[in-house]
Amino acid sequence: MRVGILGGGQLARMLALEGAPLGCRFTCLEPSPDPPAGAAATIVRAPYDDPEGLARLADAADVVTYEFENVPADSAAYLQSRVPVLPPPAALEASQDRLAEKRIFRDEGIATAPFRPVDRAEDVTAALAATGLPAVVKTRRFGYDGKGQLVVESPRQATAAVERMGPGLIIEGFVPFERELSIVAVAGRDGSRVFYPLTENHHRDGILRASRVPAPGLAPHLQAEAEALAGRIIDRLGYVGVLAVELFEAEGVLLANEMAPRVHNSGHWTLDGGPATGGGASQFENHVRAVTGLRLAAPVLTPAQNSAPAPNSTTGAAHPLVGAAAMVNLIGAVPDLHALAAVQGARIHLYDKAPRPGRKLGHVNVAGPDSASVAESVRRVWRLLPEAGPLPAAFGVQPT
Ligand code: AMP
Repeated sequence: MRVGILGGGQLARMLALEGAPLGCRFTCLEPSPDPPAGAAATIVRAPYDDPEGLARLADAADVVTYEFENVPADSAAYLQSRVPVLPPPAALEASQDRLAEKRIFRDEGIATAPFRPVDRAEDVTAALAATGLPAVVKTRRFGYDGKGQLVVESPRQATAAVERMGPGLIIEGFVPFERELSIVAVAGRDGSRVFYPLTENHHRDGILRASRVPAPGLAPHLQAEAEALAGRIIDRLGYVGVLAVELFEAEGVLLANEMAPRVHNSGHWTLDGGPATGGGASQFENHVRAVTGLRLAAPVLTPAQNSAPAPNSTTGAAHPLVGAAAMVNLIGAVPDLHALAAVQGARIHLYDKAPRPGRKLGHVNVAGPDSASVAESVRRVWRLLPEAGPLPAAFGVQPT
């Protein structure tokens, strides 16, 4: 099967690397020179809205998918007139607009922080009456990795933020969450679906630094709840492929923050979650399986499902987790490769990108029999990351 991808970054690279054993060939539409996906895919070098580039992508593909949300909706619509586009462009459009996304959550009965659309300073008072303070002012479009958002503590700060950032904003109540979680769901063309275990995520400056599974002390019903809410989004959008939903856990309740209609950084551990835990397919393999119409494979860390035939039901069972895994992002700089490679059990994934502050250049996965041994490996990796900042407390104390 020939798979086209809008975008040629690291997500496309990993999709192509994981899809190749399934006999798939990949072509990416990507404007930048020498993109990460070039190692594993043919690159059509053109802007995402270039008619000739889009036509070449359609010619080269039996199905088109995408690796990031900020692709022009018109491009997806054009491609869809030529070849199936999955996940459906409706999901792309919804995820491009924080307001549309939050309205979908609300309509589907999925809890969120209180939110209001805001365009001008005059809207601020009414919006804050709904959200309370502190609040977060966000651009509705083109925000990512914490860009385009500001926490405000007073009406005056909120007004100033709106005057500077507006129009086209959303104000949300600030959620004093205990932790951030995400659910990676996969929906097959045949209506089947699988879910990875809830992942605990650690951000700094709005950028994901590290993830781990299992999320310690997680109330068992929250996995089922997360699967149910992802399932409602899948149903509503007629979704096929990987869908990630970012969640806050606050006072035992899950609140949806945003969704990504694509493979997601918080699912990168699934590439290597298996060795200690019984094998299973990564989010990348399952996304390729989904969009090409293959049966989904059981996710990692779910031995009960791994020994059973591939699931073909719409119900997600709570996962009996065996073993543990974690992912550390390499941001801004790649440490000495020899030192990194010497960390036992560390699986290295570099994206072949030029270093730049704040840029995701790769990640390291570790898996082990339990959270303590995984945390120990994370600490070893972290020691090698000069620019990573403080180790998230969840992984223990970094010795000086
Ligand atoms: P986002 O771009 O919406 O994913 O936000 C990036 C990060 O900012 C999140 O992962 C949270 O750490 C934080 N954040 C976003 N929205 C809120 C909110 N309403 N309350 C508290 N923290 C937030």
